[in-house]
Amino acid sequence: MLIDSYDRVVDYIRVSVTERCNFRCQYCMPEKPFSWVPKENLLSFEELFEFMKVAIDEGVKKIRITGGEPLLREDLDTFIKMISDYAPDVDLAMTSNAFLLKGTAQRLKDAGLKRINVSIDTLKPEVAEAIAGRNVLKNVLEGVEEALKVGLEVKANMVPMKGMNADEIFDVLEYCRERDITVRFIEYMENAYAKANISKLSGQEVLEALGEKYNFTSEGYDGASPAKYYRLENGYRFGIIEPYGDDFCKQCNRIRLTAEGNLIPCLYFDEAMSIAESVKKGDIKTAAAVLKEVVRTKPEKNRWGGEDDEVSTRAFYETGG
Ligand code: SAM
Ligand code: SF4
Repeated sequence: MLIDSYDRVVDYIRVSVTERCNFRCQYCMPEKPFSWVPKENLLSFEELFEFMKVAIDEGVKKIRITGGEPLLREDLDTFIKMISDYAPDVDLAMTSNAFLLKGTAQRLKDAGLKRINVSIDTLKPEVAEAIAGRNVLKNVLEGVEEALKVGLEVKANMVPMKGMNADEIFDVLEYCRERDITVRFIEYMENAYAKANISKLSGQEVLEALGEKYNFTSEGYDGASPAKYYRLENGYRFGIIEPYGDDFCKQCNRIRLTAEGNLIPCLYFDEAMSIAESVKKGDIKTAAAVLKEVVRTKPEKNRWGGEDDEVSTRAFYETGG
């Protein structure tokens, strides 16, 4: 079992399979980066899988494939199948912008993917274009329908921004409720790569706005999920993710692996240790030692909402959110 210095059990790893993306979301990657990681520096699926085996053997029970946009990586289903065949009980999930999901959902499901989180920031085509930098909504919504059709469990993420999509929290919630999709409203997290002057609708503001229309009760955190959950009178449950909140890091159970093989203990900070050399050499012992060291050095808290004006310089598209 992997336990950090604050007695938190780390049993969840988020694996970014590419930093590349077909969207240019304002809060994540508004501009194409100056350069991409060269393809030859990316770990192959076999190499990533070698490390997944180490992580599973050390006690990881949940793996989420993310990016950038994970569906840009060819033959992703082969990687999913490797993990699923090795550990069928692992909670195997993916986070995607859903643009390419329509043609791939069945293959992903057949390979062993259980759940998918999709970004649904808006239901208006022109707002989707303003947020993502291209006309994406039709493909996204078709992708969501396809994922539901093939039997994947779907959750939605929305980052509400004032003057952009904040007025759509009701519509997105209702869209999700009608489809039995749990929506989580994520507070915009400041970072050095996002567009300047984004004005977030805080979790508290989301709750106040929803409270004008609905009655709901608070259910708190659900296990190690970063979301606090609330239940409407009709039984529908939605979540709020507030990384600026005091208690956000207390139940953190995750670490992150980039496509180049950097293992990152916390989304906020730049610190990382590479497992690339060890998995390339098949040196499983060293890879396991790095994993334990990264868990040991996991910081107690992120610094969002801290007193200084420091901004995270970690790119979300690199770490996978
Ligand atoms: N491309 C996929 C997607 O958009 O779902 C997966 C990667 S994306 C980095 C993962 C999650 O991070 C998405 O739900 C996105 O909304 C969220 N995210 C990215 N930048 C963010 C920011 N600055 N603040 C809050 N959430 C952010
Ligand atoms: Fe791409 Fe996801 Fe970042 Fe949007 S949030 S730019 S879809 S990686």
